[in-house]
Formats: sequence, C-alpha cells, structure tokens
Amino acid sequence: MASNASATYSSIRNIGIIAHIDAGKTTVTERFLFYSGKTHRIGDIDSGNTVMDYLDEERSRGITIVAAAASFEWAGRDGNTLIHLIDTPGHIDFTAEVERSIRVSDGAVVIFSGVEGVEAQSEKVWRQSNHYGVPKIAFVNKLDRLGASFQKTFEEIQQKFTDVTPVQIQLPVGIESEFSGVIDLIDMNMVEFQGDEGSEIVKGDIPDDMIDEAENARDNMLTAFADLSDSIAEVYLEGEDVPSDLIRGELRRLIGTGDVCPVLCGSAKKNIGIQPLLDAIIDFLPAPEDRKEVDAIDPRSGEVVKQETGGSNFYGLIFKIVASGSADLLYMRTYSGTLKLNDTLVNPRTKEKVRVKRILRLYAKNVEAIEEVGSGDIVGLIGPQGVNTGDTLCCVNHPLLLEKITFPEPVISMAIEPRSSKDKDRLVGVLELLCREDPTLFLDTHETTGQMLLSGMGELHLEINANRIREEFNVDARCGKPRVAFRETLTGPCSITGVFDKTIGDKEFYCEVDIDFYTERLECGHLVENGIKHHNIPGSWILSAENALDGGLKTGGTSGYSLTYIRAVLKDLRGTPDRTNEGAAAGAVLDAVSKAILKGTVMLEPIMKLDITAPEECIGEITGYLQARRAVIHNISPLPSGKRLNCEVPLAEMFGFSKALPKLSGGRAGFSMEPCGFQEVSQDELDRMIQSSSTVF
Ligand code: GDP
Repeated sequence: MASNASATYSSIRNIGIIAHIDAGKTTVTERFLFYSGKTHRIGDIDSGNTVMDYLDEERSRGITIVAAAASFEWAGRDGNTLIHLIDTPGHIDFTAEVERSIRVSDGAVVIFSGVEGVEAQSEKVWRQSNHYGVPKIAFVNKLDRLGASFQKTFEEIQQKFTDVTPVQIQLPVGIESEFSGVIDLIDMNMVEFQGDEGSEIVKGDIPDDMIDEAENARDNMLTAFADLSDSIAEVYLEGEDVPSDLIRGELRRLIGTGDVCPVLCGSAKKNIGIQPLLDAIIDFLPAPEDRKEVDAIDPRSGEVVKQETGGSNFYGLIFKIVASGSADLLYMRTYSGTLKLNDTLVNPRTKEKVRVKRILRLYAKNVEAIEEVGSGDIVGLIGPQGVNTGDTLCCVNHPLLLEKITFPEPVISMAIEPRSSKDKDRLVGVLELLCREDPTLFLDTHETTGQMLLSGMGELHLEINANRIREEFNVDARCGKPRVAFRETLTGPCSITGVFDKTIGDKEFYCEVDIDFYTERLECGHLVENGIKHHNIPGSWILSAENALDGGLKTGGTSGYSLTYIRAVLKDLRGTPDRTNEGAAAGAVLDAVSKAILKGTVMLEPIMKLDITAPEECIGEITGYLQARRAVIHNISPLPSGKRLNCEVPLAEMFGFSKALPKLSGGRAGFSMEPCGFQEVSQDELDRMIQSSSTVF
C-alpha cells in the first residue's frame, strides 16, 4: 500500500559520507543501517555481502562505485528523524558523482582512518564540499587498529583544514586492542557499547585515570567555542558550568555557519562510537529547511538565480539513475513544493513533459511506495522517460535548472565490440543505458572504421564499465586498450565565409555564412554562438546552421579528432527564399568549418592534475618517476606525516600509475588525479604515443 510516509517524521537529514577509499565508509554505513533496524545482520565488506554496495561489480571489487542513497530512521532527542545517507564514490575517476552527491547533501560526515590520517582524496572532497557550503562532522575511525592515534589524526585535521576550527567533542577510552568506548566531553560521561553487536549503550562515570585528560580536553573544547560564541563565553569565562544544551545549541549554529567541525571517534568494525555519531548527525547537521535558497539557472536567460527552497512550486534534482531495460529508477532530491503520484513535471533540458507513475522511499535494498513527497526529501521515481543524471524536474509553469548541463570532456576512450555480431543490438542497448546513468561516459562511432568508442574520465572508469557490461548485463564484449582521447584546435582565430551552391535533382540550392572562429580555453570544450544582428532570417535556418556548426566541430579536424577550445560565432547568413533552406544553411556551415580546418590545426592531449601525499623518504623516487614522464612539478610542501607533491602530467604517461605508486612508496603514498584540460603535444610525442597504443583486442 502506498502511504504518505513524510508525515511520520519530525525532521529529515540529507547526509553525504565522504572518505578516502578504505577509511571505512561502507562499514560505518552498514552499522548505521543495522542500529536503525533496517538490516537484520551486520553486512561485512570483507565477505562481499553489504547492502549499500548492491551492484555485483561493487561487490567483487569491495569499493563503492555508485552513489546510492539509503534511508533509515533514527530516534533523536526530538523524535524520529528520517536520515538519507548519500553514499559518495571514493575513487577519483568518479568526480562528477562525488560533486553531485555533495550538492544534494545538507551536511556531511567525513571519515578518516585513525591510522592513515588525512589522505589526499578526503582533502579534495572536503574542498569540494566547501564549494557547496556543506557543513561537516569528522569521525576518526579504526582506533582499534595497531598504530592508531586519535590525537595525531586530530592534529593533522587541524593543520590541513584551516578554513574551519576542528574541535574534539569526544575522547577514546583505551586505544588499539584496548579501545573500548568514548568519553562524551559535552555530557562528561563515558559511553560503552555492549550486547548484541554493540547495540546496548551503557553510560557511566569517566574512569578515575582519565578524569584529568577529560577535563583538559573539555577546557580546550569550551575555549574554542567561547572564541566563537558570546553566549558560551559569558558562562564559561565567569567560571560557571556550561549546560550541555547550551553547548549543543551553539555547536549546531557554529557548524551551520561553517565555523566549527566537531571531531568524534570510534571503530566501525568493533561497533564503537556509531550511535553517538548518529545522534551528532541529528543534533548538529542542518535540516533541509535550514537551507533557505539554492543556486539555480533560469533556462530562458541562462542566468544564475537564487531560488528559495520550501516554496509551493515543485522542483527537484535527479542525482542518480539506476537504468534498467524496462523502467529507469531515478533518485531525486526535492527542494520545494509537493510532488504527488501521477503529477506531470517538465524536464527543462529536453523541454519534454514527464509523468510520475511511482514515488518510492528507498531503504537501501527495500522499497516502499508512497503517494506524495514534500520538499527537502530524497525519493526514487519511476515513470519519467528520457531523463539523464543531473536533470532537473519541475512544475510545468516554473521551469528552472538546478545544474549546468555541461559535463567535463572525456579524456580517455576505448574501442568496444560484441564478440559475436548477434549481440550487437544488446551491446548498444547496454552502452546507451550506462551513458544515461553516468553523464561523464560517452558513446561514439569512429568516423572511418565504424568502431564503437566508449569514452570517459579515466582508466578505472572505463574498466569498471567494461566489467559491468560483461558481468552484470551478460554481454560478451571485447574491449580495446584504453587510449588517450586527443583533440585538435585551430592554430589561430580566423573569419571564414562558407558557401553552399549546388544543384540537386532539378533544384538549385544556395547559402552563404560568415563565421568567426576564436581559439579560447573553454571549460565546456567548444561553444557555438549566434551573433547575427538582423532579424529577417528564418529561425529554422539559424538553428540548422548552429547545429551543423556544433556537429562539424565535434566531427573533427585534420587528423579526425574532435576540435576543442574554439568559440565559433555565426556572424551572418545570406540566402534567397527560393534557393535556401535548412539543408543549404548546414552545408554552408560545414564548408566554413572545412576551410577553417585547412588553415591549420594543432594536436592537444589531456593533462591531469595530480596530488600525491607520501612519506618524505619516498618523495625523491616519486619525483624522478614523474619527471621522466613529462610532469611539471608545481610544488612539494611539508606535511606533519610526510610531503605533498602537486604536479600536472599528460594522461598518456599515467597509464598504470595506480599500480606503480605503491611500489615506489612501499604502499604508503596516496594520490588523487583529475582532468585539468588539454595542452599542445609535439608531432614526435604524438607519433610515439600512437605507435605504442594501437588498438589491441
Ligand atoms: P570504504 O572504502 O571507505 O568504504 O571502506 P570499508 O568500509 O570498505 O573498509 C575498508 C576495510 O577496513 C575493510 O576491510 C573493513 O573491514 C576495514 N575497517 C573498516 N572500519 C574499520 C575499523 O574501525 N577498524 C578496523 N580494524 N578495520 C576497519
């Protein structure tokens, strides 16, 4: 039976979980679901049966690839809260998913390993979350492991994240194999976790041998708060006892303003500290109604506008799609209004109207149908067709875009073909479905060879999708070696007149266009603009000319690679009513593009930004490795536990780097890598690369 589930909750929290790979995100999530009663048994990542990592591919790799959302209830101080956990992929090849998960979260839990400390990926995602103004709670995990230190990790957090004041609000009781509970510095008591899988909370006095340490730590905490809060300062500086409720209320405010990040501790594996972390999520992280407005784009003007949340016009963002042959499941974050079953919404990207046939509450693997959903919630939708990840769905009369429609250009591609020709249609179907799920994955057909090319954001990105095709969808596909996706650009700006003057059958066609081509480093690759000043040209000719210009630039330059970093402005279009039509306009544009290409193009290769943290003694060897691979080292800076190296390096040189780095550092270095544009590559380098990477099936 469908029900109106939103009415039963006093509040909602939309929370992202951020962590470096292996810090314990999946294990913490599993514990959350277990203690909330949504799973009956604690899933264990090591034996590959967790609830969150539900795709087969994720199971076999033991890493979280897709940002799945799981909902559960947690009884806090003020009644039942519905928590939506938005899982973020830990691997850098999935940046777009991380960004989108952060964007739909109102708060985040950042998990650090108490042994490895702050690693490169967590720093990067921390910065991304600042970009979207997402307040954070830090959780130092794995304190049961040999070599763990809460204090050292806390100091590292302090040193690396200077944008906020990190404050310890707990202390560990014991450490490593002796780790047995936490001290709550707000209530000044000891919390232990007993009974079935640590589900019984036992609160008691702080042990005598920890009283001094706990009092010192509480003083540090209150001093930090007093610097930022007048109401705490008034009480604390008078030497009076500061009530727990005052601390909690002020802490919530200071977290919301981005001034403070409380630091908690525990061990997910040993079931220590998880329930207090859930309480902290409810006590301290913002509710959806605390976010009064969001950045949106007016689809008519393209202007960024501040859109109020919680109004009566419905709008929501599709942040993930689980595609299937029959009906896609769309994960939606709602921001405003109420959506009811069978409502019609509009997708401003396609301008298509869509109907909502089912609204689902998604409990990791379990699903409950509901009749309506209000603002600030996360639900699954079934019904809307032709929707991609990142699309906004909104009420028909007030169209609005929550996310830009441009995605980063792919930097790597591989040929893919069915092993048997009878599988061709199925393979194409699966590839289209994967591209719908993931807007940073692209499918093209090679101009001359007719080969299908799958392009994406990195080696692992393609590899994982290739495995999904084989294992999840059971299509026997052969994949070529991943190859760098080169680009071309014009050698310089030029103004070109393109002409189409042909007789087809017994009819004459004619059109002339003037186009200015500018070479610019554009984030979106290439851009087509209409610069025609007079208004006496049919709109359909102009549209056809613009589409041809866009298509012509994508089709490729002298060597057949797509053109990028070009802004093309259509300046004029001349024709006659009897001899000009849409086709003639497109023909004239393609003539202009060919003439521009004839003036000369240069080859570009994708460049990656690399951020490595490593022990000091390994930095020399890593630097040598990178310098032999055309890296430009920007800086090497000191860290409490080693060094950080920032550089830019051609992607072509980075194949196999994730396997090489552990060897160079004895497994002690971490890195994050992301595309940062394209740069000119010499003909010699290019010949060398093309020779060494011919497609091998
Ligand atoms: P994720 O990559 O961040 O999702 O990390 P996982 O939850 O998959 O954990 C990575 C590994 O660390 C697994 O082998 C876990 O069993 C282990 N692990 C997670 N939390 C803890 C912890 O608190 N203590 C110990 N000793 N191991 C943990």
